[in-house]
Formats: sequence, C-alpha cells, structure tokens
Amino acid sequence: MNAGRSAVFLDEMGIGPLWRRRGMPLAEPAAPVAVAAAAAAAAAEAEPVPAPATIAVAEPFAPVVPEAPPADDVAGMDWMRLKSTVAGCVKCGLCNGRTKTVFGVGDEKAKWLFIGEGPGRNEDLSGEPFVGPAGKLLDNMLRAIGLKRGENAYIANIVKCRPTDDTGRDRPPTPEEAAACLPYLQRQIALIQPTVLVALGKTAAVSLLELGHDTPVSSLRGTVHRYAGLPLVVTYHPAYLLRNMADKRKAWADLCLATSAYASA
Ligand code: SF4
Repeated sequence: MNAGRSAVFLDEMGIGPLWRRRGMPLAEPAAPVAVAAAAAAAAAEAEPVPAPATIAVAEPFAPVVPEAPPADDVAGMDWMRLKSTVAGCVKCGLCNGRTKTVFGVGDEKAKWLFIGEGPGRNEDLSGEPFVGPAGKLLDNMLRAIGLKRGENAYIANIVKCRPTDDTGRDRPPTPEEAAACLPYLQRQIALIQPTVLVALGKTAAVSLLELGHDTPVSSLRGTVHRYAGLPLVVTYHPAYLLRNMADKRKAWADLCLATSAYASA
C-alpha cells in the first residue's frame, strides 16, 4: 500500500497526522469524493483476509458457592439463631396461649440432658423450665447424683410453649404439637452434645422413642434406650413424683441406671 492510500485510510479512521520525511512533498489533499473512491478501490484491491480461526475458549469454571441453608433450617442454626427462632415460633397452635416460650436452661456444654414434657403455668410466666415444686424436686434429684442446674446439666422440654385444655389447665402436648416442636430439641441436643439423656415422664419418652402415647412409663424404665446414638434413660416426671411419693424410690433407681450409662458411655 502506497503512502497516499495509507494517509487516506488513517484519515478515515480518525488517526493522524501522517508523519513524512523532511523534504518529501505533501500529498495533495484528496477531495471527499476521491477519498471515498480511493477507499472503495483499496478495499477491492486488498488481499482477502481469511476469517480468523475460531478459538475455543473454555468456559471459566463457575465458582462453587456453598448453598446457604434456608432461613428456617433449624438443623443449621447456632444457639443465638435457635433461641430467637423459638421465641417467635408460630409453628403450632400452642403459640396462641403462651406468655413466654420456654427454651431450656443450663450448661450449653453439659454432659447430662434432662428432657421434660412442656411448660406449665409457672414456666409459661417465667420462661424457665421446671420452676415451682416440681422444679425443686428435680433440683434435688440432680443433687442426688452430684449435679446442679446450670453446671454440667441442661434442662429442656419436648414443647416450648404451654399446652392447656379448654378450661385453661395444663395438659400434655398432642403428638402433632410434639412433632412440630421436636426439631428445636434435636438441634439443642446436637449443639450440646451430651453424654446421656434422661426422659422425665411419658411424653418425653414416647416422643423421643417414637412410641404410642399410651405406652406406660413403667414399661420403659430399667432399660438404657438409644436416641440419636446416645443412651437414654426413662424415669418419672417430678410432678408425678410429687403426687406419688412412693415411686421416688424407683426414680432413684432410674438415676442410678443413668449414672452407670454415663460412666460406660
Ligand atoms: S410449641 Fe414449639 S412448635 Fe409450637 S409454637 Fe411453641 S415453639 Fe413453636
């Protein structure tokens, strides 16, 4: 391509000025029509440019982003999230009558986890499980095996809201209410990682062991069951023991069984 044609292309492309050697005559400026004609001629004259070979470019690897657990994925919650979720839970009808949810209390790294049925009137008002006379008896039971509320022991319930009947009296939770609430307890167990579980009363025992709600506690005592791979011992609920003092002796035997299950775990 000669210097005149180069100048024409560079000018069309908006690039200039064209540097020339000193003493070299400046090319005559091309008239607009002549410029277009020259460009067309140059295009016609130009060597055919082979189409660029297609270069296969590998798709960049999509970054692997771990899927965030859904907001209501209880199994992935930490303590703070779990507590706030329970506090605002409306998963079952028990939310309608509650004053406070009763999450659980104690040492979050406890080796012993005691599981009751659900909050009663006092618990509903205070937000803490096992307060009042039944709570005092449970504290005594803990002391009998060298434990203390809040020290190596955690206390929770199957349901976190108080179940009441039509007259406003305490009642056991229904299987549906227990099933709705159980994931919270399961998450508590996973976070605490206790060594041994003690089910206090029938509701706790049959809910954890997935048995019929008419299964008597007496048929479940004296055996070390398993729940989530952990030893589970069944005993009477402290509220029952307050009404049936003679069975305290049996409850003591159950605690001894739990202690040996703990020792051999
Ligand atoms: S009992 Fe459990 S599932 Fe039902 S509303 Fe209360 S926290 Fe939610």
